[in-house]
Amino acid sequence: MPPSPGSTASLRSANQQRVVGVLRAGGTVSQADIARQTGLAPATVSNIVRQLTNAGLVEVEPGSGRRGTTVELARAAGLVAGIDFGHSHVAVAIGDLTGQLIVEQRRRIDSGHAYASGLDQADVMVDALLAAEGLERSAVRTIGLGLPAPMTNGVVRTSAILPGWVGVNAQTAAQEALGAVVHTENDANLGALAEHRQGVGRGHDSSVFVKVSSGVGAGIVLNDQIFHGHGGTAGEIGHLTLDENGPVCRCGSRGCLEAYTSTVALQGMMQLQLPNAGFDDIVAEARNGNVSALRALEDAGLHLGWAIASIVNLLNPAIVVVGGDMARAGALLLEPARIGLRRHALDAVASTPVLSSELGERASLVGAVLIAAERTTVLTD
Ligand SMILES: [Zn+2]
Repeated sequence: MPPSPGSTASLRSANQQRVVGVLRAGGTVSQADIARQTGLAPATVSNIVRQLTNAGLVEVEPGSGRRGTTVELARAAGLVAGIDFGHSHVAVAIGDLTGQLIVEQRRRIDSGHAYASGLDQADVMVDALLAAEGLERSAVRTIGLGLPAPMTNGVVRTSAILPGWVGVNAQTAAQEALGAVVHTENDANLGALAEHRQGVGRGHDSSVFVKVSSGVGAGIVLNDQIFHGHGGTAGEIGHLTLDENGPVCRCGSRGCLEAYTSTVALQGMMQLQLPNAGFDDIVAEARNGNVSALRALEDAGLHLGWAIASIVNLLNPAIVVVGGDMARAGALLLEPARIGLRRHALDAVASTPVLSSELGERASLVGAVLIAAERTTVLTD
């Protein structure tokens, strides 16, 4: 039972949480830094560190010179796992409570898989990774699970990408299959969190991550937190209408961003010139000077830029990060996207940087570990 608000116990656990919050974000930190960042008195910090040390939750390294004694979260405080399902992959990682990945693995999976078999496969991978590192399953306190679908309270709404998960309460199903507390999150939201904390968004207070693969979604980070919206489905920019009379989209609307800018749309555009070419084949052709492939990528980039213009007009983020499979086209996609942005954004936001994802295909997996770490409570009792 949590201590009653205002009690000494509640104050103590609140102060412990503030200290743990600094250790989570900073890794190895001096006691003086903890006092400065939490606003707690040095004697209070020292007390809390002693309590946490006695409970085996932090490790103290006697200092030398200027830095003084340093403190970090102990491995014994617990581990987390991250799981990321995509169109044709499942990736699993084990991490510590600072959100650093210890070990990870990525495997192919049939896109039509039933959710239960996907979870079974992830479960086996978690065990294998832990065994390889000599770690115990019981040490895994929280699991972050990313899915390429809009979700409300853990329930998968629709997904053209993972049909075997539609209507499933992914949170409940995963908790049963994996035997740990699970936090579910849309994969673009996880990518956004990862780029914001550990990638190209580091040091900014706000960023938007646009994931362009076979579908398009965005994760929005405002004031350093994922913005979910009222029902949890914020960021579905793949269905932003760019042309009322455009091609019919899988969502039932017309002229959505996804109908112009996605690996599927690009392959559709190149059907006549390069039949059966995969996305990477089309990019390779463009790099070799194929004018049709160049034009198709340029158009996809321009449309992406128009959608980004709406995002920056509305939210004014510090940066926009482009990730997902299509980011592999690099400047062939990002240059026209920047031109599209400048054409349709207000002056004040037209120069918002549009940057390539730093974490690449690992972004959502890193985000899954981070969200698990951030949702794990570390307390002495
Ligand atoms: Zn649509």
